[in-house]
Amino acid sequence: MKALKEAIEKYGVGIGTEVVKVDSFLNHRIDVALSTEMGKAFYEAFKDDRVDCILTVEASGIAAAMTAAQAFGNIPVVFAKKGDHRNVGNDVYTAEVYSFTHQKLNVIRVSRKYLEKGMRVLIIDDFLANGEAIHGLMDILNQAGCVLVGAGVCVEKGFQPGGRNLRESGVKVVSLAIVDAIEDGKIILREG
Ligand code: 5GP
Repeated sequence: MKALKEAIEKYGVGIGTEVVKVDSFLNHRIDVALSTEMGKAFYEAFKDDRVDCILTVEASGIAAAMTAAQAFGNIPVVFAKKGDHRNVGNDVYTAEVYSFTHQKLNVIRVSRKYLEKGMRVLIIDDFLANGEAIHGLMDILNQAGCVLVGAGVCVEKGFQPGGRNLRESGVKVVSLAIVDAIEDGKIILREG
């Protein structure tokens, strides 16, 4: 997606060889107009997949999930909660997710009442690196008997294996921008 790639080129910062920092517009301060465009792009990619609901994980996936849900005509967004939230209760599906950014294992939770059996669910997240977050969400969808229609991510890091592994296992993955490498702080985006 052109506008996202331009924003990454203009404002993104590469840290080391693996981390893309885009917190001036994507996951700390949010450029709402850009997020709205990303939501529309996810709609275009998945509009024929009969999506009932969007699933993401707190916190950074929520903005893109919401604008996508609006583009789909205000379908519900469910976000998995991290950590031990007493207010989620015990009637939950859980999965373990290793956090790439925080380098620790999180338990994510979704209340059972928000995922109905047979629901067609689109997963949205801000980043796809090793695929841990998306696998955790897929695990929860399996437990709930939901149908995964695919995964939409704002930024995929193509030099990490998450996207490739998901596609090889048959998941429809749509990334709005793919980073091929980080070289001396510069983010190298995939053409096309
Ligand atoms: P994965 O679970 O695919 O290994 O990593 C994806 C998750 O880790 C995303 O939810 C995102 O929040 C975080 N993440 C992974 N790589 C990056 C990165 O380079 N920059 C930022 N800002 N977040 C990342």
